[in-house]
Amino acid sequence: MPRVTVIGTGYLGLTHAVCLADLGHEVLAIDVDAEKIAKAARGEAPFFEPGLEPLLRKNLDSGRLRFTMSFAEVGEFGDIHFLCVGTPEGESGRADLSSVYAAAQALAPHLASPCLLVGKSTVPVGTARQLMNRMRAIAPAGGLLDVAWNPEFLREGFAVQDSLAPDRIVLGVASDRAEARLRQVYRAPLEAGTPLLVMDLETAELVKMAANAFLATKISFINAMAEICEEAGGDVIALAEALGYDARIGRRFLSPGLGYGGGCLPKDIRAFRATAAELGVSSLVSLLGTVDSINLGRRDRVVALARQAAGGSLAGRRVAVLGVAFKPGSDDVRDSPSLAVCDQMVAEGATVSVHDPVAMPSAAAKRPDLRYAPSVSEAAEAADLVLHLTEWSDYRAIDPAALAGVVARRVIIDARCCLDADLWRNAGWTVHALGRP
Ligand code: NAD
Repeated sequence: MPRVTVIGTGYLGLTHAVCLADLGHEVLAIDVDAEKIAKAARGEAPFFEPGLEPLLRKNLDSGRLRFTMSFAEVGEFGDIHFLCVGTPEGESGRADLSSVYAAAQALAPHLASPCLLVGKSTVPVGTARQLMNRMRAIAPAGGLLDVAWNPEFLREGFAVQDSLAPDRIVLGVASDRAEARLRQVYRAPLEAGTPLLVMDLETAELVKMAANAFLATKISFINAMAEICEEAGGDVIALAEALGYDARIGRRFLSPGLGYGGGCLPKDIRAFRATAAELGVSSLVSLLGTVDSINLGRRDRVVALARQAAGGSLAGRRVAVLGVAFKPGSDDVRDSPSLAVCDQMVAEGATVSVHDPVAMPSAAAKRPDLRYAPSVSEAAEAADLVLHLTEWSDYRAIDPAALAGVVARRVIIDARCCLDADLWRNAGWTVHALGRP
């Protein structure tokens, strides 16, 4: 069995390292963040992901998974190196590839024998080939160093199950040798019937960007429908359900509300748009620009609704915010639509009190100036307005009659359109749901 390394132990890399070890591989993982490595080596996941920590401990105990901060050790140990570093938004929406090139530069001098670098980070088309040329020029292995791209489709909140049993494996390769090695790594899921799609490097890079662009477009499409429902007096939920029965459309990702956020979709849409602009593909530039602006417009719409529900101004109003994670099942607050709404309301003079079942520590690290309440009722204490911004299942279980006893005014904005509006209205609440009467 090939020995594998994983470079970058964030949401993607740590999950990938743990799951590869669980599939039976010897895995060595590296990061430049000493605290992350120390935590992971102690068996503590540095972020919340259901099921990850027990699997991390299990594989540490088995001895198959280890952590290091030495690129020399990584080069010496591995036959296959998975690159999982971050590719955040850079200048003018372009992907910032500095971590990709820094990791490649740090690793290449230690690659003396035939090996394979496999990119999993989401990158603009052309990156893999450029990386291969740059690394071959530095690595003692020279032309015996292959580069492949194996985009990742895991969903935060379901990362472990998506990694152990992916819905497809996409391999972008430039040689049969690279394909054969990756087939060995993924032997278990392939034997279990996971579809495998082998293609060139450029197409594999584009598949990931296209998948994210499609998902974002679907979300912005239904949010545009929510806007016309609001103007025309329609109900976007009834509309989404009716659309969803058409097998060509499908119901998933047709959830109207506050729009998408997180560490992937927003920056990937902008990076893809920047690539399309560089390549002169104007149709894609305008499509993705519209998708992005519809998405950002949802945040403004929620603030406008809050202002209106507060009687024309948010100044001096107490607002309870339910949910800051960019989505349920995660503590990730990168580009969180909820935090963006909080920012705007604070800028308009509101006092915001936030609750989230798991994401308060990560939100507090980013925005220490907000108030964080240990329970929903403490967040809602004397509130003029309650905003439901992340669709945790816990919030669907709130008893509106009990909550009515603690607030100053019974007004709720359901920005995720998933609370039982009749239940809340029967308990005396005024309910505003985006795109619903
Ligand atoms: P992250 O920020 O959580 O993790 C990136 C890690 O890389 C960090 O721990 C950082 O310290 C480390 N790093 C940075 N420079 C390094 C270097 N030179 N050497 C070693 N480690 C280095 O990001 P993430 O969410 O895990 O995303 C990583 C990549 O995977 C991105 O391209 C992202 O778009 C893609 N992706 C993420 C997800 C997801 O759900 N999070 C899903 C699919 C694809």
